[in-house]
Amino acid sequence: MALDEFALIRRYFERRELVEPAPDGLVAGIGDDCALLSVSPADELAFSMDLLVDGVHFPRDCDPRLLGQRALRVNLSDLAAMGAEPLCFTLGLALPRADECWLEAFSQGLAEVAVESGCVLVGGDVTRGPLTLCIQVHGTVPAGQALRRDGAVVGDDVYVTGTLGDAAAALPLLGAVHRADHGLAEATVAALHEAYYQPALQLTVGQALRGLVSAAIDLSDGLASDLQHILTASGAGATIELDRLPLSAAFLDAVEEEERWPMAIGGGDDYGLCFTAPQSSRRKLENALGTEVVRRIGRIETEPGLRWRAPDGTLRPMKRHGYRHFSGSDDG
Ligand code: ADP
Ligand code: MG
Repeated sequence: MALDEFALIRRYFERRELVEPAPDGLVAGIGDDCALLSVSPADELAFSMDLLVDGVHFPRDCDPRLLGQRALRVNLSDLAAMGAEPLCFTLGLALPRADECWLEAFSQGLAEVAVESGCVLVGGDVTRGPLTLCIQVHGTVPAGQALRRDGAVVGDDVYVTGTLGDAAAALPLLGAVHRADHGLAEATVAALHEAYYQPALQLTVGQALRGLVSAAIDLSDGLASDLQHILTASGAGATIELDRLPLSAAFLDAVEEEERWPMAIGGGDDYGLCFTAPQSSRRKLENALGTEVVRRIGRIETEPGLRWRAPDGTLRPMKRHGYRHFSGSDDG
């Protein structure tokens, strides 16, 4: 079987001579949403990189302003997952040509999110090549308070923020070719489109979770895949109640009933947060953020693995899992 991206990272990039000796002050290296480096007694620097490739992570010929927005939003999602506050970012850009209209719109989109998040551009690199965007975000988090993937404890509740599956439901609607014959209400298409290109920043939510939650991750590859990272890192399992999954009105309108659960748990690009918290935090969490923002969907258990419970109480085998680069033959 072909190596998936996580096996590939473990085998080739976590080799000892690449990662040791760790520098003084390194609190977390490979394995979480951000690396953490202690920079003062009070603060840790959180940093994370994401790469977006034309035709793989966004449709060919997509609106450059929306692309600029999406690129920075998906990177900031990893800071949110650690409970960090954004500081600055660097931008690597490979461009097939210097198209000024494209660049004006792209930089406008980036600037809109830079202003909204308070994360400013401090450097980067530009070169000619197939359209590729690489952003590294930097943020800070009070020492010892970062949200990590490895702290889930048996008995904890499992939560998500935002709704699930909207970006996956948007995928067939993104290309201009498909837009005329989708047969959906304009408001549905607009809402799904927005979920894909402009996922709501979760930075203040992530910061509010500090001290209340035991583990957290952002939803980039789909709930099934991302929650499994928490379970693996924490040495636990979980059961999720399928009827508690938060689904938007647009998703319900666009997706056939039998496709809803598989798409909600398997679809990527949601960019909400998934986290676990002790039951004793339940009231505080719901009071601080509201039950509309944080949705309790299941429970951490001793038995490893991820189980899905249908409303009739039976466990349901679920086929679809999150998006993994390199797990198939041609999705590099
Ligand atoms: P995320 O989805 O949160 O961006 P990934 O799933 O891409 O995280 O990566 C999982 C972990 O592997 C992260 O800690 C990331 O920093 C690390 N990682 C990814 N690619 C590489 C690489 N080429 N070299 C070293 N570490 C990597
Ligand atoms: Mg992440």
